[in-house]
Amino acid sequence: MIRLLLIGPPGAGKGTQAAELAKYFGIPAISTGDIFRENVRNETELGLKAKAFMDRGEYVPDSLTNELVRDRLSKPDAQVGFLLDGFPRTIDQVTELDQILHDSNKKLDAVVQLTADGDELVRRLSGRALEQGRSDDTPDVIQRRLSVYEEQTAPLIDVYVSRGAVAMIDGLGDVEEVTGRIIEALAARGFSK
Ligand code: AMP
Repeated sequence: MIRLLLIGPPGAGKGTQAAELAKYFGIPAISTGDIFRENVRNETELGLKAKAFMDRGEYVPDSLTNELVRDRLSKPDAQVGFLLDGFPRTIDQVTELDQILHDSNKKLDAVVQLTADGDELVRRLSGRALEQGRSDDTPDVIQRRLSVYEEQTAPLIDVYVSRGAVAMIDGLGDVEEVTGRIIEALAARGFSK
């Protein structure tokens, strides 16, 4: 049983690592980006509202995002633990997550911060644009997403560092190598499967 957050800039490898860690710990990986993309694909009301923000590389408003996460975390599979990938991204979302956890008498175990330098991020995101054709992986939108991350999300790391919750992990290297680093850092904090 473990409750984790994965924080890092776009392109740091959060999605890939989230899938590996979810498998390892037997918990759901909950990606707000994936949930938004699925809603866009299915043209739901939420998807229609989120799309314009996503296409600009900007954050979907906190009210919509918070509601989605509160609902998702109430599902049975998330009661055995969870890994949140891409949430929280704003201070308001941190407050909401604190409240959700408080309301259900739970607490966060660790925050994994994945790092990678700016050139590497742009290189990876541009490569992904070719492979996956994501509408927000165009050069302008990539730049916007990176600056929105720096402005709105990077400051959250300090909040969690001050709570003693952050394991900082170098996101450069093979997938298995990075997964190994994360698992080791969590084990050192007393969390293993
Ligand atoms: P991601 O796949 O995590 O990079 O997310 C893709 C896009 O979905 C982001 O650029 C945002 O537009 C939106 N999004 C995902 N997670 C959040 C969040 N926690 N808060 C606001 N917007 C989000």
